[in-house]
Amino acid sequence: MIRVEALTRTYDGLTAVDRVSFEIGTGEIVGLLGHNGAGKTTIMKMLTGYLEPTGGSIEIDGLDITTEREAVQQRIGYLPENDPLYYEMTVIDYLDYAATLHGVPDAERTGRIREAIIQTELSSKATNTIGTLSRGFCQRVGVAQAILHNPRVLILDEPTNGLDPTQVQHMRDLIRAVAEHATVILSTHILQEVQAICSRVIIIHDGQKVLDSALDELLAGKRLQVTVDAGPERALELLNAINGIVSVEPMAQRGPGYRYALDLADKDDPAETAHIVASRIATEGWKLYALQPERRDLEQIFSEISAIERTQTT
Ligand code: ATP
Repeated sequence: MIRVEALTRTYDGLTAVDRVSFEIGTGEIVGLLGHNGAGKTTIMKMLTGYLEPTGGSIEIDGLDITTEREAVQQRIGYLPENDPLYYEMTVIDYLDYAATLHGVPDAERTGRIREAIIQTELSSKATNTIGTLSRGFCQRVGVAQAILHNPRVLILDEPTNGLDPTQVQHMRDLIRAVAEHATVILSTHILQEVQAICSRVIIIHDGQKVLDSALDELLAGKRLQVTVDAGPERALELLNAINGIVSVEPMAQRGPGYRYALDLADKDDPAETAHIVASRIATEGWKLYALQPERRDLEQIFSEISAIERTQTT
């Protein structure tokens, strides 16, 4: 369990992180999402004990990072934004060195290094010099050093930055595999990244937390979409008259039938209204092609947040 309370960091008068609070439970994959300069790296450096907060507190597994930094760091694996690699070393020598830094006991060292190499699929590169590896493989070496000591929490700063699409896919698979045994926090400014791997997103803007939500809940739309064989002249009146529907908006057609977006009175539970809509359509004898909650995407949510902020600052 990670508990962050009013975390703040200033740099010479600039407030890079401003009273950020959140809790993260075991086994979650949480995305810290924000534009460049939002404060993500600063938060991660404080979480890993590499940067002192100006204010607030961080607890990991009940341990306070300011008073028990070493014990906390033993529980954390960290992939910084810029790989902490020694490019003249071979992969295996570097991991051996990293094992020493992480305090892996001698008796466990070989086994742990082997396991990290297998997990990151680095076997074919184990004796290569790091400087000769592609960016994707270097990132994997970075992850291998971060998981060597079986951390309970893995913190990854922009893990897919600069990778090509195949390497991105590998990295996502790797993160999912690691998350089976650890809590993962990753930072990114790429919306799709969060959508692809995270179960929860925390959006940081100008150092402040502006949103914290489970991804499923966030993406679940507040409207229903229905596709039937009835055109607007018949459908609008009937759909509008259904209890629980506030308004009906015809949508561009895709495939057979006519699509409508239904704005609901009970926004928390579209399924409640869905079955009323379905039975009304059946009573009318219309063909029902599709009926589902509208899914939003993160781009939409991001622009909604930016719009709210614009109105607050004007
Ligand atoms: P990016 O996605 O570009 O890495 P970020 O969200 O990680 O950005 P941070 O690197 O945490 O953002 O930076 C937050 C703010 O703090 C920025 O305005 C940055 O310029 C500033 N900042 C970061 N490190 C320092 C430092 N050592 N000294 C002064 N200002 C800093």
